[in-house]
Amino acid sequence: MLKLKNVSKYYYKDGVVAAGFTKVNLELHIGEFVVITGESGSGKSTLLNVLSGLDTYEDGEMYINGEETSHYTEDNFLEYRRKYVSNIFQNFNLVNSYTVYENIELALLMNGKNKKEIKKYVDSLIDKVGLKKYRNTVTSKLSGGQKQRVAIARALANDTPIIVADEPTGSLDSKSSSEILKLLHDISKDKLVIVVTHNKKEIEEYATRLIRMHDGKILENKVLTKINLDDKLEAKEVKNITSFSKLRLGIRNTFNLPVKFVLMFVIFMLITITLISNYSAFQMAENEESVTSYSEYFYNSSDKRIIITKNDRSLFSEKDYEKIKKLDNVDLLVKEDLINDYGLYLNNDNIYMGGKINIDTLSNVDVGRLPENDNEIVIKGSKDSWYISELQSDILNSKFSIENMPKYTKNVKIVGIVYGDNSYEYEYDFYLSDNILKDIVSSLNEEYSNITYKINNNILSIKNGYYLDIVVSDKVNEGEVYLKDTMNGFCKDYNCQNENLEISINSIYYEEQIKLKVSNIYNINNTKKLLGLDYNEIYDSVFINQKDYNKLFNKGNYQSSIFVKEIKDLDNTIEELNNLGFETLALRNAKHDSAEMVMQILKIFKLVVTVVLIITLFFISYFIIRIIYKSRNSYYTTLRTLGSTKKVCINILMKELVCHATIAYSVFLLLIYLINKDIIYFEYFKELSKYIGISEYIIVYLILILLSILISMRYGRKIFKDSIIKTYGSVL
Ligand code: ADP
Ligand code: MG
Repeated sequence: MLKLKNVSKYYYKDGVVAAGFTKVNLELHIGEFVVITGESGSGKSTLLNVLSGLDTYEDGEMYINGEETSHYTEDNFLEYRRKYVSNIFQNFNLVNSYTVYENIELALLMNGKNKKEIKKYVDSLIDKVGLKKYRNTVTSKLSGGQKQRVAIARALANDTPIIVADEPTGSLDSKSSSEILKLLHDISKDKLVIVVTHNKKEIEEYATRLIRMHDGKILENKVLTKINLDDKLEAKEVKNITSFSKLRLGIRNTFNLPVKFVLMFVIFMLITITLISNYSAFQMAENEESVTSYSEYFYNSSDKRIIITKNDRSLFSEKDYEKIKKLDNVDLLVKEDLINDYGLYLNNDNIYMGGKINIDTLSNVDVGRLPENDNEIVIKGSKDSWYISELQSDILNSKFSIENMPKYTKNVKIVGIVYGDNSYEYEYDFYLSDNILKDIVSSLNEEYSNITYKINNNILSIKNGYYLDIVVSDKVNEGEVYLKDTMNGFCKDYNCQNENLEISINSIYYEEQIKLKVSNIYNINNTKKLLGLDYNEIYDSVFINQKDYNKLFNKGNYQSSIFVKEIKDLDNTIEELNNLGFETLALRNAKHDSAEMVMQILKIFKLVVTVVLIITLFFISYFIIRIIYKSRNSYYTTLRTLGSTKKVCINILMKELVCHATIAYSVFLLLIYLINKDIIYFEYFKELSKYIGISEYIIVYLILILLSILISMRYGRKIFKDSIIKTYGSVL
């Protein structure tokens, strides 16, 4: 039993009070077919809205099965509606993009039924309202009468004891009107049906009660057929929509409006590209920063460089190098690490220039030709450099001496020029022959070793002021050494001939000692004959055979460097090297402090900018998405009339947005993949993706999900701010 006692409803607008209806007394029962008539503005809709719990009332009491409702909160009324009331509206309020089947199914899903168990039931309802042919037709394609049939079937599916229909035939022609009214009557057994209509004549034959309203009051309340008044309104069992149904609806809603789908795709794509661009811009800046930052200890302080030694500090074997070369991220292996930190200076009296040794293999040069002899070299430099651009003809084919290796002063000839992207205008790369390289390496080894000589129990070393040059000569036999006559002072009878000279090497990697017999003392008279050299041009030198020299200084490599392809995978590469039994030092981690500070600032800046960006993106995308979703307000209002809570609406929308985000992001990833595989050519993305690893891709996806969640929550709150009537009103 539904009972109103002196109920009044007022509208307050701009300080003016208008009555919807006043002092209405009414008692309605299950089994009744109530017809309400009255001129426009007489309060019929207002009365129906109050009866169906869509609107509140101010005065009097409304009872449902004897329970008073004036203390009801919004949630209580929602509960009331879910248990008791289904609405049929003049303008149908169907989900136009859903099929007939989906619209009816929706009511059942909202009530916690699952897809499979309701299929037969939905089909039987479609049958009942005579729409079998249109089962899979989108409702926007139906005529008004057909739409109202769907609405009736949906109200039936909702299975509440009360069905309220406000002018259900108001938008229909007279033929469909009478069909609809008949249908309403057919389904009204064991229900309380309340219909507002102007088609008084056609409906009179069905009505059990006739109510006429005028100016907010009931003028006439005539019972035409007596009904058993003891019947109680049976509350429907209320169940919540299942998670699976929410997911299904979310996915369905993603795809069923093509224009919205495309717009959302574009938005999420733009968000993705913005996030990724932002991220890689910072990575690029970090990279640039590390190129210009420097290390005090290492000349080549490229971030891509990792210095490697063996755990036991032993020599590298070819096998070790094979293992290292097999690692994915290894771009270049420089076996002899010393040359990485060696600055080579060339001088020809007019031009002085310096730079790094480059051990890459050269396949062609931009000017001149590739080297053919040992002493021919190629220089690589920026086109911005004066030497490379203006003095090209002066340096090409000109002889230079290697400045900082006085001992081995070699003359080299520049025969080729390569244009490069060197980071400093006046820093060059030099490509040298293997033999020159070898000379440089052994002289560096010599330079970095502690050398002591022992002759006749005298120990000579740099510590006590003696520095002897060790010079290789093919005139000296293995196991022998030629000493300068000035050394005779360390020996008995002022003669070192046939004495033993012990040379001990102590470097950070190894110790070595050899004993050589002094087979000749060279002096001003015999030097030319013995060594083919001019005595006056020789420093304090000992001359030894190449083989002995190799024993001391060309032992092999104790320290090498690799240069990685991708800096982002540097840590992985370090771990792989460590697992192979190598010790590593990544130059990136051995940088000068000032650079580190710049990096720290950059990191903080990056975080701040990213957060600001996400917030900005949130508002921009929320704004756009709200416009796109404005047309969807009626969808969520329909869900509400079917008993959906705010949480459920937000949840369904969230799933839809996540679905949109995931699709756009997957397409983005696919694009990146194809671009990196060179199937699609897109330089900008290729550049971007260089700086981005798996973890960044995951983070960007999580940000998209976060945005989806935030937007759906905000939008959900927004649509629930207004009442169902108001939202429908604004949609009309
Ligand atoms: P009917 O459905 O019989 O045409 P209504 O119930 O819509 O009439 O309206 C009854 C009275 O309440 C009318 O005077 C109308 O102006 C007023 N009214 C209805 N809705 C509102 C509203 N949202 N705000 C202010 N006044 C309203
Ligand atoms: Mg009305």
